[in-house]
Amino acid sequence: MFDVTKIREDFPILKREVNGKPLVYLDNAATSQTPQQVIDVIVDYYSNYNANIHRGVHALSQEATDKYEQARHKIQKHFNAKHAHEIIYTSGTTHSINIVANGFSSFIKKGDEVLVSAMEHHSNIVPWQMLCERTGAVLKVIPMNQEGELLMDVYDTLLSQKTKLVFCNHISNALGTINPIKEIIDKAHAVGAVVLIDGAQAAPHLVADMQALDVDFYTVSAHKICGPTGVGMLYGKEEWLTKLPPYQGGGEMIAEVTFEKTTYAGLPHKFEAGTPNICGGIAFGAALDYMNAIGFETIAAYEHELLEYATDELSKIDGLKIYGTAKQKTSVISFNIKGVHPYDIGTILDKLGIAVRTGHHCAQPIMDFYKIPGTVRASFSFYNTKEEVDVLVAGVKRATAMLV
Ligand SMILES: *Cc1c(COP(=O)(O)O)cnc(C)c1O
Repeated sequence: MFDVTKIREDFPILKREVNGKPLVYLDNAATSQTPQQVIDVIVDYYSNYNANIHRGVHALSQEATDKYEQARHKIQKHFNAKHAHEIIYTSGTTHSINIVANGFSSFIKKGDEVLVSAMEHHSNIVPWQMLCERTGAVLKVIPMNQEGELLMDVYDTLLSQKTKLVFCNHISNALGTINPIKEIIDKAHAVGAVVLIDGAQAAPHLVADMQALDVDFYTVSAHKICGPTGVGMLYGKEEWLTKLPPYQGGGEMIAEVTFEKTTYAGLPHKFEAGTPNICGGIAFGAALDYMNAIGFETIAAYEHELLEYATDELSKIDGLKIYGTAKQKTSVISFNIKGVHPYDIGTILDKLGIAVRTGHHCAQPIMDFYKIPGTVRASFSFYNTKEEVDVLVAGVKRATAMLV
């Protein structure tokens, strides 16, 4: 049985107050909070076996290397990648996408086409625009409807022999839409295109299976799944990671260096130049252990309950409009109150101890689509409660009374 009161005890930060009120943390789509079990792993690393990895013969270095590589295997297992060396440690989703976008410079030529969805995070738009500028490729957009669902029939018409790459998020951070990525991947493959799925917003809510999806690249940030900031993964099919050139040069990524010529290390080290976030990688593994112990099906079912309850309660407020009403969505609610700037609502909610995000959520094209400056976004995690939804609803009502 899922006991949210017990779960909340794992998160020390949830006990604190903000502006004299109990913290109601509803900004989980920006970053999740960290359970004591993961904090303990971080403290243990720096207290007991902090050392550089892969190089030292001494005990601490061996221990750190073992734990870091064990975590890679945990990540591999969780995402069901075929090989551990298909999991590249990165600093997060943004870094992961840039590795791929840069790597494709030599495979893309003028006139080739690159497709992105209309609901991407800036980190899954800008690197591809830069790629198109470098190569002369054309960026095309898969549009969406008012509900925030991709128009799959238009996607069909955009795909052609010219399509070389397709990029889409698994779940939109601004709208919560769960995209039909299996269909997107299969259709792209049918015309010979390569697919990168940005899984940053999906990883907290569901388990993506790399082999079942047959995806070419998939990206995750640990800080959105109860792990620390500054670490994440790039999954890539062995075939593609072998073909792509390294992103950064330096230590750890080489086989042999002379001033005449350097040969690169094999996977995954080819993409892991320099001293990595060792503690972060180990804590990433611990965060997956923590969430798997609760179980992703349990998490998804509970979050769905929260989403339905919050949607119903917020919808009762006069003048409130929700953006993103896809049939398949996760526990993210983007909304506005008629005639009120989202920032003003966010500021009043903060005074009440409620943390929400306001603005364009790094997805400005979505805001342009709805012709709005931004939204208030409440995003729920498995450690949130219905009582917290009630506090949010009361806060929004109070803000509305003050501002309208
Ligand atoms: C958070 C997020 C990103 C960016 O992740 P970083 O950890 O900031 O690199 C990209 N895409 C989506 C959908 C996100 O939610």
